[in-house]
Amino acid sequence: MKNNALPLAIVGGGPTGLACALLLARRGLASVVIEPRALADAQNDRRLLALARGSWDALRPLLGAAAPPTAAITEVHVSSAGEFGVTRLAASDHGGEPLGATVHYGDLVAALDRATIASTQIEVARGRRVVGMAQKPERVTITLDDGGTVDAALAIHADGTASAADEDDAALPWALIGEVVLAGPPAGMAFERFTRDGPLALLPAPSDRGALWSLVWCSDRATVQRRPALGAGEFTAELQAALGPRLARVASVVGPRSAYPLRSRAREALVEHRAVWLGNAAQTLHPVAGQGFNLGLRDAVVLADELAAHADAPAALHAYAQRRRADRAAITTVTRWLPQVFATRAAPIAAARMLGLAALDLLPPARRGLAELLMFGVR
Ligand SMILES: Cc1cc2nc3c(=O)[nH]c(=O)nc-3n(C[C@H](O)[C@H](O)[C@H](O)COP(=O)(O)OP(=O)(O)OC[C@H]3O[C@@H](n4cnc5c(N)ncnc54)[C@H](O)[C@@H]3O)c2cc1C
Repeated sequence: MKNNALPLAIVGGGPTGLACALLLARRGLASVVIEPRALADAQNDRRLLALARGSWDALRPLLGAAAPPTAAITEVHVSSAGEFGVTRLAASDHGGEPLGATVHYGDLVAALDRATIASTQIEVARGRRVVGMAQKPERVTITLDDGGTVDAALAIHADGTASAADEDDAALPWALIGEVVLAGPPAGMAFERFTRDGPLALLPAPSDRGALWSLVWCSDRATVQRRPALGAGEFTAELQAALGPRLARVASVVGPRSAYPLRSRAREALVEHRAVWLGNAAQTLHPVAGQGFNLGLRDAVVLADELAAHADAPAALHAYAQRRRADRAAITTVTRWLPQVFATRAAPIAAARMLGLAALDLLPPARRGLAELLMFGVR
């Protein structure tokens, strides 16, 4: 894009919006990020993000000295409760480098924020919410909740998922987040365990207090909302029952447990004239297989590349929408279907999924293909 007098406006300073601003700055493009939340609020978000190897490779150069604490993922163990057949994705199948790394959402946002401060191309306007947008032929006028306006060459929507007015939280799946100490598995081992009530993931967490795993345990709202209040012994027993006796022993639960509703939706159109959507604002995924931010970061990389490559902004946005089609479709489909396929109790589907997991473990090319999809998306 021409070095326009107008900046690019990024609506939302979550991890996708801030990463996008840094990617644009590296290509010489200036932006203003508009974010209502104070940094301290974002830092309190303790959900753990699993970053695929490709994402971590893209993020590391942006963060420089501002890198947050991370934990390496060296093996992923996939199993289905009460059924035979497991699949293991291992770093040793992929050149010995870790499959990815985990980082707390709040730590990542803080690190990205520190990196934006060091850039002369980025202005982060905190404490202001975007409430309107008017598109003109050559620019976009954005209205803020304090009555101010921002004229920009483009509006880049990275404002996540607003809940729809007609959405019923009770009908959504929910996730419980917490931290546990496991006895048995080596540090670096992640677990994806499918149960008939929903998937359960244990991810190695960054910690200076010994090996810790972060838990994301999905189920219906009533079940998830009941679990934070359980005593440690009762909660540990429920978790151990879901995990089974062989994978690991739950030695203790650590810190608070919280519950999130899990919205899933995807926009039909990624581009409308001078407005473009990316990250959760473009597609919000079920957290199974930890793909949401990974996909959003790939959105940001492609958008920055296309804006740097085209003199004409609408042409850049058109190219972005084209290039994101296959990756979005593949990852959205996988994350939508996996929980459903593993939740069903129908005998033929149960047999097929057991055979599928066992076959995947025995077929290195198929296993490598799956790991590469999860690490790098559709390339
Ligand atoms: C329990 C759980 C576990 C997850 N685990 C993983 C994982 O392991 N790996 C992974 O890749 N992903 C994971 N995800 C998904 C991941 O959290 C999201 O994909 C990621 O946070 C999306 O980032 P974002 O910046 O697009 O959106 P958000 O994080 O939602 O940020 C949006 C930002 O926009 C701001 N905003 C909202 N409205 C406005 C407005 N009107 N004006 C200006 N700003 C606005 C918000 O304040 C916010 O800061 C998980 C999600 C959940 C719920």
